[in-house]
Amino acid sequence: MKYYFACPRCGNDERFAHPREQSSGLGCLILLFGGLIPALLFADAIRHRVQCVQCGFIFRQPALPRSSASRVAIYVILVVLSFAALTIILAMDPELTSGIPEVSALLTVEAFIAEYPRAVTLTLIPMLALLLLSLLVVSWVSNVRLRMDMRKTHKLKAGRSSAFRQDRNADAAGVSGCPPRAAVAGQGEGRG
Ligand SMILES: [Zn+2]
Repeated sequence: MKYYFACPRCGNDERFAHPREQSSGLGCLILLFGGLIPALLFADAIRHRVQCVQCGFIFRQPALPRSSASRVAIYVILVVLSFAALTIILAMDPELTSGIPEVSALLTVEAFIAEYPRAVTLTLIPMLALLLLSLLVVSWVSNVRLRMDMRKTHKLKAGRSSAFRQDRNADAAGVSGCPPRAAVAGQGEGRG
């Protein structure tokens, strides 16, 4: 069975493994000097790398394709969130709306909101929340279905590094790149 992506260097699409390499400690440095979010981003980037078993090239595994329903749902979510952000911007700087002509329909809606603010708030906020939640569920379910279908024809995850005849029982927890403290201390003493 083939993967849904191919090696950018040699075109192999049948055998990939998680790369194994000496820990650089870079994850620790990023956590110390950059903070938690850059460290998490770095760990995520490291975790999604795969190595071509054929030519040894290491690259970032392309994201799994999204379903059409999921793409539409995400588009609508982004539109809703953009308008929510616009509402906050306009509320913080009312001068921005001063150039808009006073249309009678707009004035009627404004008068209604001014007269019944609670009714508008109690319906508008739950409606938006429910809309966003429904879209997220649609996106998630359609992606899960797509991946279940893809699994029948393609491999989705890289194999273990044993593809390179390495010890699969060795410590695989090198995601953060932090060497154990005892080992570091031991090295320091050994040199003295
Ligand atoms: Zn390759």
